[in-house]
Amino acid sequence: MKEADIGLIGLGVMGANLALNIAEKGFRVAVHNRTTARIDTFMREAGGLAENIVPCETMEALTEAIARPRPIILMVQAGEAVDQQIAALRPLLAREDIIIDAGNANFRDTRRRMAALAEGGPQFLGVGVSGGEEGARHGPSIMVGGSAAAYRRIEPILQAIAARHEGEDCQAWLGPDGAGHFVKTIHNGIEYADMQMIAEIYGILRDAHGLPAGEIAPVFAGWNEGRLNSYLIEITAAVLAAQDPASGRPMVDVILDRAGQKGTGRWSAIEAQTLGIPATAIEAAVAARSLSAMKEERDAAQKRFGVPSPAAGPASGDVLAILEQALFAGKIVAYAQGFSVMAAASREFGWNLPLGTVARIWRAGCIIRSQFLGEIAEAFDNAPETGNLLMTGAFMPLIEAAHPHLRRVVARSAEAGLPVPALSAALAHFDQFRRGQGTANLIQAQRDFFGAHGFERIDAEGTHHGDWPPLR
Ligand code: NAP
Repeated sequence: MKEADIGLIGLGVMGANLALNIAEKGFRVAVHNRTTARIDTFMREAGGLAENIVPCETMEALTEAIARPRPIILMVQAGEAVDQQIAALRPLLAREDIIIDAGNANFRDTRRRMAALAEGGPQFLGVGVSGGEEGARHGPSIMVGGSAAAYRRIEPILQAIAARHEGEDCQAWLGPDGAGHFVKTIHNGIEYADMQMIAEIYGILRDAHGLPAGEIAPVFAGWNEGRLNSYLIEITAAVLAAQDPASGRPMVDVILDRAGQKGTGRWSAIEAQTLGIPATAIEAAVAARSLSAMKEERDAAQKRFGVPSPAAGPASGDVLAILEQALFAGKIVAYAQGFSVMAAASREFGWNLPLGTVARIWRAGCIIRSQFLGEIAEAFDNAPETGNLLMTGAFMPLIEAAHPHLRRVVARSAEAGLPVPALSAALAHFDQFRRGQGTANLIQAQRDFFGAHGFERIDAEGTHHGDWPPLR
């Protein structure tokens, strides 16, 4: 029997779809799953693609079925399962074989695993795969980290299975060790911010302007034709237009407002903090999900404090245009923060991350895909030395034009008691960032007062201390 080109372990939602994608592109893929019953089900459902798939009941059978050097994708639950699979595979593999962890690993785990395998092998790639079930089946965005040589060996397969944007495949080697999984983590952080800001604008339209879901849907559909054009805006319009067959009400109105999270958004906020890079819109979005989960406490607080019922009047064309611009401004800041975190990680770990390429491979396949990312790619291509989107030639005029609208929306929401945590975090970031004379002089004075931490002076070199008066 012809040897397989690649192996895949883990036939869950993502693994099964990725295996079908690989088989469909003409590659022979050997598959294995811990629970072997899943392999049979998978083969039955593979239909005509089954002829390109080699079902393997054991790890040994899997490793024997693949042509050397053997690339094997792990698509199992992130965490301990990955360590277990590596431990089981290692004795069966040679130095030049390649384990490809394509799950949502924490990049710190990827660094640890790569370091542990550096001596003796096999090779190890940490690969971020975005796009959910649909992406895995028909073309995800693929972010590769690890040895460039190992990547080259699987590049033709990744090129074939990745999403395409205007003919270009949305996959790339982004850097050594944890670079791929780090970029995937920040992708998810940006995704959180993007979704939260969209939800905040929905909240304004629902609660301040009193629009029912069915009337908000065409607003988002219209925005999807403009500069906000993106998958997330598109699905927002579709979600808001959907009806619950059981109650006949808008689907969104029968869904409990308690959001889940699996951890990657939180990791992006943690890594931003660890690197000392402000990513406040992302942090606000993560916190907003956490606060959303406190449903009972929020209900109790509403009973105690009440909620204002802002009557902002009808959502006129002017109002909608302001909201669209405000969302655009917030989005610019959130993406700028995410890219700044990646630029800082690149410096910290010596990855040399190509920010333009990151934006380019996010243009299709992944959840935050949008035309906006094409503009970001171009902005970084034209200014590769800057890691700050806000200071690129392309984005300076965009944020300049849009931030007054964000200001208006945040101010009015604050007065009306409407929570817009991510939008207001984005505005505060812009306002602090563009102000050369901030207020950290007072912070430094306080630190010196209570802890003799010292401060720099505006008129002299070195570290100084204040002659602080004693407290009475
Ligand atoms: P899933 O449907 O829950 O499937 C999990 C898979 O992991 C199953 O094949 C399961 O095998 C296997 N597994 C779990 N623990 C294991 C262990 N200790 N040893 C061996 N195998 C084990 O998960 P999924 O959604 O496909 O996600 C897989 C990975 O992709 C995760 O890292 C996830 O974060 C990432 N991811 C998911 C999405 C998405 O939209 N779902 C998007 C991007 C990335 P059994 O059948 O034996 O339980």
